[in-house]
Amino acid sequence: NIRVRFAPSPTGYLHIGGLRTALYNYLFAKHNNGKFILRIEDTDRSRYVEGAIENLINSLEWAGIEIDEGVVIEDGEITQKGEYGPYIQSERLDIYRKYVDELIENGYAYYCFCSKERLDEVRAEQKVKGLIPKYDGFCRNIPIDEAKKRIEQGEEYVVRLRLPQNRDIKFYDIVRGNITINTEDLDDQVLLKSDGYPTYHLAVVVDDHLMNITHIVRGEEWLASAPKHAFLYEAFGWDAPEYVHLPTVLNKDRKKLSKRQGDVSVEDFRNSGYLPESLVNYLALIGWSPEGNDEILSMEELIKQFSFERVSKTGGIFDKNKLNWVNGHYIRESNTEKITNLAIPYLIESGYITEDDVDKRYDWINTMIRTVQESLSTIKEVPEKVAIFFGEEVELENDEVLKVLKGEQVPILFEALREELGTVDKIDEEFSKGLMKKIQKKTGIKGKNLFMPVRSALTGNLHGPELVDIIYVLGKQNILKRIDYIEN
Ligand code: GLU
Repeated sequence: NIRVRFAPSPTGYLHIGGLRTALYNYLFAKHNNGKFILRIEDTDRSRYVEGAIENLINSLEWAGIEIDEGVVIEDGEITQKGEYGPYIQSERLDIYRKYVDELIENGYAYYCFCSKERLDEVRAEQKVKGLIPKYDGFCRNIPIDEAKKRIEQGEEYVVRLRLPQNRDIKFYDIVRGNITINTEDLDDQVLLKSDGYPTYHLAVVVDDHLMNITHIVRGEEWLASAPKHAFLYEAFGWDAPEYVHLPTVLNKDRKKLSKRQGDVSVEDFRNSGYLPESLVNYLALIGWSPEGNDEILSMEELIKQFSFERVSKTGGIFDKNKLNWVNGHYIRESNTEKITNLAIPYLIESGYITEDDVDKRYDWINTMIRTVQESLSTIKEVPEKVAIFFGEEVELENDEVLKVLKGEQVPILFEALREELGTVDKIDEEFSKGLMKKIQKKTGIKGKNLFMPVRSALTGNLHGPELVDIIYVLGKQNILKRIDYIEN
């Protein structure tokens, strides 16, 4: 029974690299009929951010990643479900304490009383000598009884891992193969901090074991910690889970994607008008490749195809243009109403429509969106694309448009257009469909000579959405104003 966990720290928002990690966990779990667990790793109290857990869960949910077990939101409240709880590490302090005691008892950990000043000094000295800074083992050999006395007397302490000297630690990573690290290159890691909270290293091992996690799938920044974890499994006498360290999501300069360069959180992308299916589809391709050539893959398809065998060892580049292309694809494939509903907040924000219009003129908004749907790469672009429908003045795209509008028959055309519009109060869809035919009958002008001048006058452009839609969306008054404007 496959069980994987996504174990973010609630530090504010879900980075898209984090979403990619969550996604690979999820795809692997679902491919194998396993469980996807959300665990919150909040043992670093200094980094805790209010509201971060809600934000994480909402972002996962938006992306279509369903949490089988662990921390969830039900009826708007954070709760926990499953038999292995609690799933929030700050609620598991007793458990960690028990396992730390066990390690101390068996000689795998020891109390350390070194002050911060002393540690800083040691580190500074090591640096001068060109050594990699690490704990010098000062408290390693304090007898347990003595240590316990000092603790009773109120001395501050931490608990450290007692690594054996000069020993190779080996573990296997499904993507990277066998990895060996000598303990001389590792530190006697702090396991329990002076505030009584465990460090990540202790908590992650204890929890992954107690929660029966079968595969640890996480970013490669944790690869360096894995040998310490492997040693802890050994010290506890537990079987270690399988490891998979994923290649980092990089920007074009091959550096980590950082907030300074723009969007990095799932929320940012959501607000910028990306569809969840696009972000998921695109992120899946950074660091993993499908077997076939088809790169447009739904969640369902991704689940079917996903395997660690096709995860790459090297970092994947996040390419915004490609994401835009994928997003454009999903927008074109969506039914227009879905896009309309997503676009409405942007239209209101830009002042093109009001809250009132949403109910009263929904069909009109929907038609307007249909006219631009093909050309969008994000929903956020809607206001700039529909700008052609607003305002009395028409901006001519180029000289060619001007030439078309100077055509001999244009005045006759406009006259006929005015007359036809005079027969109705308001343009409905039916009228807009029949209008050009009527003008053709009336004037005898047809084809390009009929359509191009009307299109040019109404939009200032020779290309664009269907004329029928333009006529309907613009409405009677706007059309009259625009031909007036062109003629003067
Ligand atoms: N809490 C760690 C993080 O924030 C989890 C690392 C892991 O998956 O082991 O990424």
